[in-house]
Amino acid sequence: MAYRTVYPYTNEVLQTYDPATDAELEQALAAGHALYKQWRDADPAPRARILRQIAARLRAQRTEYATIMTHDMGKLIGESEDEIDLCAAIADYYAEHGPAFLQPQPLPTNQGKAYYVRQATGVLVMVEPWNFPFYQVMRVFAPNFMAGNPMILKHASITPGSAAAFQELVTSAGAPAGALTNLFMSYDQVSKAIADPRVAGVALTGSERGGASVAAEAGKNLKKSSMELGGTDVFIALDDADWDRVYKLAPAARLANSGQVCTSAKRFVIAASHYDEFLEHLKAAFARRKPGDPLDPLTTLAPVSSASAKKKIQSQIDEAVANGAQVYYGNEPIDLPGQFVQPTILTGLTPDNPLYSQEIFGPVAEVFKVDSDDEAVALANDSNYGLGGAVFSQDQARAEAVAARIETGMTFINQSLRSVPELPFGGVKNSGYGRELNELGFSTFTNEHLIVAA
Ligand code: NDP
Repeated sequence: MAYRTVYPYTNEVLQTYDPATDAELEQALAAGHALYKQWRDADPAPRARILRQIAARLRAQRTEYATIMTHDMGKLIGESEDEIDLCAAIADYYAEHGPAFLQPQPLPTNQGKAYYVRQATGVLVMVEPWNFPFYQVMRVFAPNFMAGNPMILKHASITPGSAAAFQELVTSAGAPAGALTNLFMSYDQVSKAIADPRVAGVALTGSERGGASVAAEAGKNLKKSSMELGGTDVFIALDDADWDRVYKLAPAARLANSGQVCTSAKRFVIAASHYDEFLEHLKAAFARRKPGDPLDPLTTLAPVSSASAKKKIQSQIDEAVANGAQVYYGNEPIDLPGQFVQPTILTGLTPDNPLYSQEIFGPVAEVFKVDSDDEAVALANDSNYGLGGAVFSQDQARAEAVAARIETGMTFINQSLRSVPELPFGGVKNSGYGRELNELGFSTFTNEHLIVAA
């Protein structure tokens, strides 16, 4: 597996990277383990100061880091800059709240004075995807750095520039050796690391296939794991929705990051009363997107991350159409050399269509017509995934009732789903398990050590 940066707009190979050696892995494990022992009983305040420093550096070098991500996987430069801002906010959040989360938490009991205290558990392996090359890493890094768990990063093979830049960011902010070691590892080396007794757990964000394989390695070795996997999130607009708001938010809910977001709205579930009008609005907004160089701030449609990603999206569309789906808009070639997929709207997807039960990781919207809340809920839950979703209705009680019946980890009302540091992130079903961000994200890899004093 080669680690290299190929700019998806020009297909130019910008840089290649040497794979990690076993000796480098051993060195990272040894340094991480030594640091864990040192950090275990240490005051967390210096780590909070380093997180503040990381946030400041991200803000100061925002465009530089953003450009590295855009070169790696092609996202719009403005989206890359927003991602850097979010990473800075996450670092600040854990710097501010981390020390309190590490304080003893009292537990009412008649057994005497009882409390639990969150303690580090050891070195973690972090396996991350390419779609948000900084944010995915930061979501795991910030809470675990604060908690005192050193980390070894295996980033996606197509985003090595971002992986190296994140490592440099952490080191230059003053983190000690072993706090975060980026290694361009093979899958075998990842398995080897997970099996190592110095490693306490593994966090993966990625596909079901990758997640199942890494979770199996963790299970075999009795290591804790958290899995943030794919999704087929619904965007439900009930008949009493604020339709102007729906029309405004729906296109970006699908096209942000060229549709390559685990929590993108992938299935639009629309009240029959407004179905035709919704399709027209979505089509008009999709048609306005301008493909071009993602480094140009005027571009509004970026390429997808790689040639293989484009090929996969195209084959899913072709298969869906061959099985009866209709192309309402899009699915035309874009006359540019980069990995572009035209924003596409599919209708008429029936449960026997292969795409009905798959995730499509690109700018492709599936639109369904429903006649009732029950039908919307049934459609939402007719999926192997359960990551997020959104419900639109001007009757908040009705929207909340629908939201409560949807089998997902996160449902937003009258707004598109977004990730912020203080709200927990994660899913159910094949979308994975565990929560990141918020205080809950802090707990995944800490030992909530119970102390009872008579
Ligand atoms: P993959 O699962 O293929 O890759 C994700 C990461 O896992 C990469 O670093 C990859 O390495 C690594 N990996 C994959 N298999 C193994 C293995 N057996 N052992 C060790 N490492 C492994 O996912 P994609 O790159 O296809 O990413 C897109 C997918 O991720 C989508 O399905 C999307 O929904 C999901 N995703 C989920 C998110 C969430 O938070 N829930 C967020 C973003 C994406 P390499 O690149 O070298 O193959």
